[in-house]
Amino acid sequence: MAILIDGKALAQKMQAELAEKVTVMRDKYGIVPGLTVILVGNNPASQVYVRNKERSAVKVGFKSDTIRLPEYVSEEELLEIIEGLNQDPTVHGILVQLPLPSHINEKKIVMAIAPHKDVDGFHPMNTGHLWSGRPVMVPCTPAGIMALLREYDVDIEGKNAVIIGRSNIVGKPMAQLLLDKNATVTLTHSRTHHLAKVASQADILIVAIGQGHFVTKDFVKEGAVVIDVGMNRDDNGKLIGDVKFDEVSEVASLITPVPGGVGPMTITMLLEQTYQAVLRSVHA
Ligand code: NDP
Repeated sequence: MAILIDGKALAQKMQAELAEKVTVMRDKYGIVPGLTVILVGNNPASQVYVRNKERSAVKVGFKSDTIRLPEYVSEEELLEIIEGLNQDPTVHGILVQLPLPSHINEKKIVMAIAPHKDVDGFHPMNTGHLWSGRPVMVPCTPAGIMALLREYDVDIEGKNAVIIGRSNIVGKPMAQLLLDKNATVTLTHSRTHHLAKVASQADILIVAIGQGHFVTKDFVKEGAVVIDVGMNRDDNGKLIGDVKFDEVSEVASLITPVPGGVGPMTITMLLEQTYQAVLRSVHA
């Protein structure tokens, strides 16, 4: 039976440590990390994410602002707001909650955020740093997964890591972070042939596809470490992962649950990266 990777516990530990560092920063240097989140429209899932981010940011002692804009806000207005935040020295991290309404060009918005405030790590300059092996701002979910692997002493060097899903926010940056730690990485997707066979070669299997209970034990080698990024709702509205937890936990050595695995780490890394952005701004 696999050991559970407790993302909630690690997130709480890291956030408590961060809160202490933030207190020192405020008391000694008079600096309060500032994180501003921009939310456009009424997407219910986005509203929940943003509320959680706001709550966590306040809890660790950040100055947390959320700019809520109506669905019909124009691209120009949004760009102007971002430019204002880029210039504001009390704002160290800017996050625009995606997805955006279809009349707004997402790429253009991501490009408008100053790279040193891009705490989501989506700006092409930060993607470039990551791919050249000098990560600065890294997408928060894969960064959180690396922290979980570290916490549980998972040996990465020379291991076979298979990632299912190649999105820009999870799969691709995950591949680069594992490569950086000398794993042999296979990045798979919806066109991959014999996916279960490829996945079953993995010592470390990361699943980020967005299809509830897709990965069965046939995908998993005995003793593999399994990280489930998926967040899906079943027919009863219950939150479930991409991995069939009950059967996969019988063959894996370590496994993340959903909820309580990767999810809490994503917000934690967002806070951590905002704090790091403050340190860089002070040392610049
Ligand atoms: P995307 O929809 O952007 O990407 C999904 C990827 O999975 C694509 O590369 C797609 O392949 C691949 N895929 C889809 N179906 C299959 C299949 N049947 N076999 C193999 N590959 C498949 O999703 P995200 O990366 O944004 O998110 C993935 C999941 O992770 C979602 O459930 C999301 O909610 C969750 N998530 C959770 C986070 C957290 O903090 N816990 C953070 C971010 C996401 P192709 O490219 O060929 O289309």
